[in-house]
Amino acid sequence: MFQCPHCGKPAISALKKTILGPGVPVACQSCGKTIKITYPAWMKASLPGVLVMVAALFFESDLLVYGLSAVGLALMIALHLLWVPLVKEE
Ligand SMILES: [Zn+2]
Repeated sequence: MFQCPHCGKPAISALKKTILGPGVPVACQSCGKTIKITYPAWMKASLPGVLVMVAALFFESDLLVYGLSAVGLALMIALHLLWVPLVKEE
């Protein structure tokens, strides 16, 4: 669970945060106030994974293309969970 910036209690699950995009605020499970993520933080966390997936397109081997794409996707999800802070929706 990720902490709510309003009440400090668990706000959303990791799965829900994974699919949370900037500009799509959600309600905290504990207090019901609206929380969101910001575009700059989201883009910064997405970039390494996107770069790996783009790099994968330059390989001839299917195994490498699919392997690197999977790594890129995993990286995007992991960095999204680690780097993107939940902020208050004003
Ligand atoms: Zn809350």
